[in-house]
Amino acid sequence: AKRNGKNGYYVHSNEVARPTVEHIVLLSDLRKAIKNNELSIVFQPIINVLTKKIVAMEALVRWYHPEQGVIPPNQFIPLAEESGLIVPIGESIVRKALKQQQAWIQEGLEPIRIAVNVSVKELQDQDFAKRMEAALKDLKASPEWLELEITENMMIYNEPTILNNLRRIKDLGVRLSIDDFGTGYSSLGYLKRLDVDTLKIDQSFIRDCPHSHDGRAITDTIIALAQHLHMNVIAEGVENDKQLQYLANRGCVEAQGYFISPPLKSEEAKRLLQKGIN
Ligand code: C2E
Ligand code: CA
Ligand code: CA
Ligand code: CA
Repeated sequence: AKRNGKNGYYVHSNEVARPTVEHIVLLSDLRKAIKNNELSIVFQPIINVLTKKIVAMEALVRWYHPEQGVIPPNQFIPLAEESGLIVPIGESIVRKALKQQQAWIQEGLEPIRIAVNVSVKELQDQDFAKRMEAALKDLKASPEWLELEITENMMIYNEPTILNNLRRIKDLGVRLSIDDFGTGYSSLGYLKRLDVDTLKIDQSFIRDCPHSHDGRAITDTIIALAQHLHMNVIAEGVENDKQLQYLANRGCVEAQGYFISPPLKSEEAKRLLQKGIN
């Protein structure tokens, strides 16, 4: 392989751009992965800042590739979105998450919220809400214990299909959360219009807390916004004690991050639910 000075891509000697070839191979691998059940989820705990109790788990997808090992979502979710494969993948993730949630309840654990990430491509599908309803019914799960995480940028589409799906999942009683809050589209009217339940403060702002003035200013502002609008607020990417302390002092309700726990496989997640944090 040599360097193509113009766009920075590495190219094979046959001059076929590597990203293209890799994408085609990866896409065919991804189709196989769905069939062979190579996609699974890990769970990252979300705690109440004051009580330190685990109140929720965020489901994060992992691809266990037979040759390449674990492929992180950032490397295949965009491809799944482009190809439309995100629709069946997303549905299977929700079903896996709800199934695990029900299993924990049956094993005697207290119910906790499960948060699942949803791509805009999924919400552009006419039948998204219908499929969520069917998943909840099939798995005998309670809608109020499911929270769907969408990003702010979804609102710039202003598409009837997306808005209809969001309205219908809210009507089912499913919770709605805005992920990476503060990084995207900044018209705030939609928060009330869509009856959003939770704001997740983006990791980049927490990373800057408490040492940077701007990091603090943005974090404080999002916490206050959530309070004024009677919403839950979660700080993401909490990596040290100072940050958690800061968030507690500012009245942030919930927190998530490596300092609390990395994403865990289901058995480890269960053990943590049993013994608690600390
Ligand atoms: P996200 O939804 O913002 O998820 C948070 C990401 O930050 C996760 O990466 C998580 O492992 C990581 N993280 C957690 N705590 C910390 C911390 O303290 N410090 C730092 N630096 N990172 C932390 P992951 O699992 O690689 O996921 C990356 C992104 O891929 C997610 O960002 C989400 O946008 C997307 N994604 C993951 N799972 C799914 C899924 O099931 N469906 C869809 N559509 N997207 C997904
Ligand atoms: Ca998320
Ligand atoms: Ca996030
Ligand atoms: Ca994200």
